[in-house]
Amino acid sequence: MVTILDGRAVAQRLQAGIAVEVAAFKQRYGAAPGLGVVMAGDNPASQMYVKMKRRACAEVGMESLVALVDADTSQAAVEQRVQAYNDNPAVHGILVQLPLPRHIDEERVLGLVSLAKDVDGFHPVNIGALAMKGREPTFAPATPSGCMVLLQETGVPIRGANAVVIGRSNIVGLPMALLLLKADATVTMCHSRTRDLPAVVRQADIVVAAIGQPEFVRGDWLKPGCVVIDVGTNRVDDPTQEKGYRYVGDVAYDEAAAVAGWITKVPGGVGPMTITMLLQNTLKAARRSAEGQEG
Ligand code: NDP
Repeated sequence: MVTILDGRAVAQRLQAGIAVEVAAFKQRYGAAPGLGVVMAGDNPASQMYVKMKRRACAEVGMESLVALVDADTSQAAVEQRVQAYNDNPAVHGILVQLPLPRHIDEERVLGLVSLAKDVDGFHPVNIGALAMKGREPTFAPATPSGCMVLLQETGVPIRGANAVVIGRSNIVGLPMALLLLKADATVTMCHSRTRDLPAVVRQADIVVAAIGQPEFVRGDWLKPGCVVIDVGTNRVDDPTQEKGYRYVGDVAYDEAAAVAGWITKVPGGVGPMTITMLLQNTLKAARRSAEGQEG
């Protein structure tokens, strides 16, 4: 029997705890933790994600600010927004909602985010620390951190497990593999050039799919009883829905649920955990800042 890893329920539980800690922070320091978001105004998916993140901030009692940039904005203007957040003591965490407009050098922008405020964990120094043995990043990227929490919920030992991560992006696949390695899994990273992907996935006790291809991973690729974490969020046409579309993951859910021991749903799996980890990182940044000033 498969167990559904309910990201919404875990996120709610954790966010209730964060709200209590935010209230205590406010009482002690007289101000709420603050998140500063930089986003390009014309991307509907970004608008939706930012709305959800700001709503979650409000629900736990955090402040959030948004700096909107136009699609044709200059590199200097985006950098100026980040710098303004770096200099603003009411902003403890900075989130650059990706993607930025094509002509903007994202790497340069992410590299400008103050290390103390890098709550998305995308600064090269934080990624570097994540990749090095014996080092810990100040902040780890939110989506893979959320996947790790869901994995811990299963009680399945990560140490020594065969973990297969499909996808090697800087924001999901790569940091996911690094977090699993830090947790002592034996990690295989797969991507679009991997030969015989089904055979590799069949070895996995833990499968993390972060590809961006609807229902790509099939049930007969899975080892019976394995844990499946589906990061994929793909919009597919569905005339039976009022909106005309729905979201599916990178894993063929029904087939996979018949074989796996644990599985996440899309939506309601990894997505809510990503937001929760962002809140957790922002609270951590605020505490570090306040304690540093008390210090
Ligand atoms: P990217 O497009 O940046 O990366 C996709 C990765 O998948 C690449 O490494 C690519 O390989 C690999 N890939 C693509 N096609 C195949 C294939 N046929 N076989 C094997 N590997 C393949 O995507 P992201 O990492 O940004 O996002 C992945 C998915 O996760 C998306 O659906 C996205 O919407 C979702 N997502 C969900 C979040 C959440 O909170 N739930 C947060 C972030 C993303 P290669 O490197 O060789 O090109």
